[in-house]
Amino acid sequence: MITAHQPVMVDEAITYLITIPDGIYVDGTLGTGGHSLEICKNLGPKGGLICIDVDRASIGLAEQRLSPYRDRTRIVRESYVDLDKVLQHAGIDKVNGILLDLGLSSYQLESSGRGFSFLKDEPLDMRMDQDKGITASELINTVSTGRLEEFLWTYAQETWARSIARAIEGERRKGPIRTTRQVARLVEKTIPLRHHPRKIHPATKTFQALRIAVNGELQNIADFLEKAPLLLVTGGRLAVISYHSLEDKLVKQAFRQQRGDTRYPRKLPTPPESGPFLMKALTKKGLRPSQAEVNANPRSRSAIMRVGERV
Ligand code: SAH
Repeated sequence: MITAHQPVMVDEAITYLITIPDGIYVDGTLGTGGHSLEICKNLGPKGGLICIDVDRASIGLAEQRLSPYRDRTRIVRESYVDLDKVLQHAGIDKVNGILLDLGLSSYQLESSGRGFSFLKDEPLDMRMDQDKGITASELINTVSTGRLEEFLWTYAQETWARSIARAIEGERRKGPIRTTRQVARLVEKTIPLRHHPRKIHPATKTFQALRIAVNGELQNIADFLEKAPLLLVTGGRLAVISYHSLEDKLVKQAFRQQRGDTRYPRKLPTPPESGPFLMKALTKKGLRPSQAEVNANPRSRSAIMRVGERV
C-alpha cells in the first residue's frame, strides 16, 4: 500500500500563490501531486501548471492523480534548479507563481524502498533522483571521517558528530555499510542512552545530514533562490515550505535583502538584475501550520512557509 501524502499548508499555499486564476504556475517539487492537484482545482480555464520533480517513481504516481487535469498540466522530470531551462524549453518567459515544498514526501519515506527511513531496513540509497549522483552508502563508505563529521554537524547540528563519524569509520573497516538498519543501530549505540533525544529517534539527525549531503539539498535551494525572481512576472509569488532551520534560513535571507525592508540600509545600491533584491517578503515571520493540521498530519509539525513577491 502506498501512503497517500498529505500536502502541507495547502490552503495557505493556494491563497498566496494564485494571484490570477488564468496564470501559469510552477510546482517545483511535485512529489505525488498533493499540492499540484489543489492548484489545478483552483485554476481558471486558461490557467496552466508546470510540475517538476527528479523522482521517477513519484512522477509516475502524480501523473495518475493529475490525469483529470492533463490539458492544463505539464509534468517534467528535472531539478527545480533548472527551472529556467524548463521554461525556455516550453517557450515560457515568466510565470505567475512558483511553489517549493522542500524535504521529502511520505511516499519516499515510507514506500520508496530507497533508504530514507531509519525505521526500516532498506538499502542505503537516499537519492531523490534514482539516476544521478552517489548513494548514501557510497558516500558513507568513502568520505573521510572529517568530512562525515562536518556533514553531521553542518547539516543537522548533531552534537555527537565526531563520535558518530568515528563509529562509522570503525564499522566500515569491517565491511561496507549498506543498509539503513546498520546506520540506525550504529548511532543508537554511539550516543549514550542517557543522551538519546526524548522526542525523536537518535538517528534522525544523522539521516537528515546524509540525505542533505547526498542530494546537495542546500546548494540546490541557494541556487534556485538566486534564479527564481527573474522567472516571475511583477507581482508573481514564490512560496517555499521548509522543514528545518537551515532551509528556512536560506529562504529568509533571500527575501530579506530587498527594497521596502527597512532593516536593510536604504542607501546601498540595488543591483538591477540580482535575484534577491527583486523580492518583497509577504510573510515577515513565516507562516506555521494550524494546530489542527499538525494534529491531523504530523509531517507538517516542523513546516514554515515564506512567501515573496516579485517587485
Ligand atoms: N508537495 C508534494 C510533496 C513534495 S515532497 C505533494 O504534495 O505531494 C518533496 C519532493 O521534492 C520530493 O518528491 C522530491 O523528489 C522532490 N525534490 C527534491 N529535490 C528536488 C529537485 N532538486 N528538483 C525537483 N524535485 C526535487
